[in-house]
Amino acid sequence: MSIITSLTESGTVDVAVIGAGAAGMMAAIEAARVGAKVLLIERNREPGKKLATTGNGRCNYTNLDMENLVGGKYRGCNPEFSEIPLESFGPEQAVEWFRGIGIEPKYRGNYVYPNSDQASSVVTALWDEVVHSGVQVLLGTLIRKVRRNESEAVNHTGREQYSSQENHGKSRGVKSYRTDGFLLDIEGCDNVIRAKKLILATGSRAVPKTGSTGDGYVWSKALGHTLVPQVPALTAVKCKGSHYKNMAGVRTDAKLCVKVSGETVAAEEGELQLTDYGISGIPVFQISRHVAYGLRDEKEVSVYINFLPNISDSKEEISEFYKERAERLAYKEMGSFFTGLLNQKLGNVLLQMANIDRKLPVSKLSGKQLKALSALTVSFKAECVEVNPFANAQCAAGGINTAEVDPHTMESKLVKGLYFAGEILDIDGICGGYNLQWAWSSGFIAGNAAAG
Ligand SMILES: Cc1cc2nc3c(=O)[nH]c(=O)nc-3n(C[C@H](O)[C@H](O)[C@H](O)COP(=O)(O)OP(=O)(O)OC[C@H]3O[C@@H](n4cnc5c(N)ncnc54)[C@H](O)[C@@H]3O)c2cc1C
Repeated sequence: MSIITSLTESGTVDVAVIGAGAAGMMAAIEAARVGAKVLLIERNREPGKKLATTGNGRCNYTNLDMENLVGGKYRGCNPEFSEIPLESFGPEQAVEWFRGIGIEPKYRGNYVYPNSDQASSVVTALWDEVVHSGVQVLLGTLIRKVRRNESEAVNHTGREQYSSQENHGKSRGVKSYRTDGFLLDIEGCDNVIRAKKLILATGSRAVPKTGSTGDGYVWSKALGHTLVPQVPALTAVKCKGSHYKNMAGVRTDAKLCVKVSGETVAAEEGELQLTDYGISGIPVFQISRHVAYGLRDEKEVSVYINFLPNISDSKEEISEFYKERAERLAYKEMGSFFTGLLNQKLGNVLLQMANIDRKLPVSKLSGKQLKALSALTVSFKAECVEVNPFANAQCAAGGINTAEVDPHTMESKLVKGLYFAGEILDIDGICGGYNLQWAWSSGFIAGNAAAG
C-alpha cells in the first residue's frame, strides 16, 4: 500500500472532498480560494452528473422566496439546522456567486435559472472554476472506505503510551491514539489518499445511476455518526385501486391532504397528475416524504384530494353547487354532467365510483347520489401503497443526524476535521431550487471552515 504522493510534497492534502456534485464542487472551490491544498474526488468520469439533469435540464438553482423555511421549505428531524447556513449564504449570495463564474440569472417569479436555460452550463462553469482555483481532481475514482488516520501515541522513550486506565488497577490499559486526519481507500487500487480534513459530499441514495449510492452514510456510521432513516422524497406515490388506469394522463388543479393513521401531517395545493399507478406532480412530490415515512412505519397512509379547490373545500358547499348545476343541466345525461367542469376522464371515474350510470338523466339524480359525488370530488381517498423508489426520487429525506453537526461550520461534533455538505445531511428541501440552494449553502460553509 502506498500513499498518493504526487498531490503535495508531504503526500497529504489539506482538504479532501469526496463527491463532485453541487455541494462538493462548491466546497472544493471555496476551500481552494482561501488557500488550502484541495483534492476533489469523484467516482464518475465526469462531474455533476445529477446536477446536469436538474430542473428538466434547465437547473432551477435557487429560489428567492425564503419565507417559512424551517419545517416548511426545509424538512428533517431538526429543520432549524438549515437556518444558519441559509442565512450565511442564501439565494442572493448564490446568485452573485454564480454571476462571478459567468452564470447570469433568469428569474421566473422567485425561481432562478441560468439565463442559458442549460443545467450543463452550470456544471461547466463550476468545473472551470474548480480547475481555475487550483483544486486537484481525481475523476473516475471510487472511494471505497474512509478511515481516521490514527497513530498510536508514543512517549519520549519510544515505548507505547497507555491511557490513564493503566493507573486504575489494570495491567494493560487502552492505547491512546493521536488522530491525524483521514485515510481514503480507493477501489481497485492499493494507493491511499491522506487528508488533514475531509468533506463528505457524496449525496444521498436518490438516483443511484448518477453515482449517489449512499456511501457517505456507511462511512459516517463507521466513524460514529447516527443516521436518520432515509426514504425517497420528491417522488410519485403508488395507490390502491384499478381506477387510476382510467385517469392516467389527467392533469388537474387539486388540494391534497396527507393523513397518517387518521392524523393530518401535510397539505399541499397545485397541479396534480394522475398516472396509471397513482398520483404524481409537484404537490405530490412535496408531500411524498410524509407518505414515505408513514408507510415505512407500517402505518395507514391516505391522501385526500379535493378536485375543485377553486370552488370550495366543503362537501356541503360542493353539494349545493352540484344541486344548482343539476337543475341547470337537467336536460342532459350524467355522462355529460362534468363536461366543462372537470377533466372528462376524471368525471367518468367519479361517476363509476359513485355507481352512477352515465345514461342516467341528470334530472333523475337522487340526493344520495349527489352527496356521494360531492364527497368523492372534495375528499377523494387515495390509499397509498408505496412511494416511487430512490431511482425515481429527486432527493432523499433522512441522512446524517444534524444534531451531531455544527451548523456554523458543517463540522462533525464527533469527529474533528470531518465535514458534511449537501444532501447527505438530514435536510430535504421542497421542489423549486431549495435542494440546490442547500448544496450551495452547506458546501460554501464547509469549504471555508475546512480550509480555515
Ligand atoms: C431529476 C432531478 C431534478 C432535480 N432538479 C432540481 C432543481 O431543479 N432544483 C433543485 O434545487 N434541486 C433539484 N434536484 C435535487 C438536487 O439535484 C440535489 O439535491 C443535489 O444535486 C444534491 O447535491 P449533492 O452535491 O449533495 O449530491 P450529488 O449531486 O448526488 O453528488 C454526490 C456526488 O458524489 C459522488 N460519489 C458518491 N459516492 C462516491 C464515492 N464512494 N467515491 C467517489 N465519489 C462518490 C457521486 O458520484 C456524485 O457525483 C433534482 C434532482 C433530480 C434527481
